[in-house]
Amino acid sequence: MGWGFAAHRKIVDVAIHHVPEPLHSFLKLNREWLVEHALDADLRKHSVIGEAEKHYIDLDEFGASDSLSICMPPPNWKDAVATFGEAELRERGIGPWNVKWQFKNLIDAFEAQDKNRILRSTVDLAHYLADLHVPLHTSKNYDGALTGQIGIHALWETQVPESKMDEFSLVNLETVQHWNPQCANSIWQVVKESHMCLDIVFKAEKEAMNEIGENQAFSFCTRGRVRQKMRSDAFVELYYDKLKGQVEQRMAKSIQACSIYWYSAWVMAGQPPLPGKKTEISRVRAMIEWIIK
Ligand SMILES: [Zn+2]
Repeated sequence: MGWGFAAHRKIVDVAIHHVPEPLHSFLKLNREWLVEHALDADLRKHSVIGEAEKHYIDLDEFGASDSLSICMPPPNWKDAVATFGEAELRERGIGPWNVKWQFKNLIDAFEAQDKNRILRSTVDLAHYLADLHVPLHTSKNYDGALTGQIGIHALWETQVPESKMDEFSLVNLETVQHWNPQCANSIWQVVKESHMCLDIVFKAEKEAMNEIGENQAFSFCTRGRVRQKMRSDAFVELYYDKLKGQVEQRMAKSIQACSIYWYSAWVMAGQPPLPGKKTEISRVRAMIEWIIK
């Protein structure tokens, strides 16, 4: 699970539009590939050992959820391993540490001026960043099983975005400082904010269920070849109203984070020329040399 298919793609697409030059032109040239591969990280979960835990962190496993200061594990991976042990950390999810590693991968890819590595790291970083903006990716009660609210995961991150995304205003980047050398550390603030949203996520669902009644709350829908029991359209509508723009805000923040991380990685790599452009220039140069010959 992560943001649904449509939301992940939208996040990458809008972030490309708003990252500053020269990254904007480079990513725009490769827009189709990037949008197409926005969900690759989720697809790897079934085939790659160690992938699944990169998409979340169960912050409530680290302490009482009403006292956020004791929820947070050490931000430094070695310190965290020394405190909890690696196996335990992987069990609870390693999302924020992984974002730091992916950020480093992107810097390395820019330094190497390797187009394929840059694109792969760009899209993967965006995926993991976006996932950590989803409140349910910071809790062991990620699908409501512990509170009798099963299906809340798909409701929040797939059904609401799919039915409401066209109305979302996702771009608030005018005042954003894209160059932020500390951005990778801010991931801890992101998961904290996501975790603080959980109260509304669960409360709104309970309220909506009480108001609409179990009979009207569910409907069957066909996704691909699977027939699933999901929250009904009327339920989604009511739940959406009660969330008061929460899904839209988390999506907008995901987009903002992607463009800041991408741009900062490029600056930290020393603002190297971007591969597409270099190829263009060398192609022109090769043609001129051929004509001269
Ligand atoms: Zn994911």
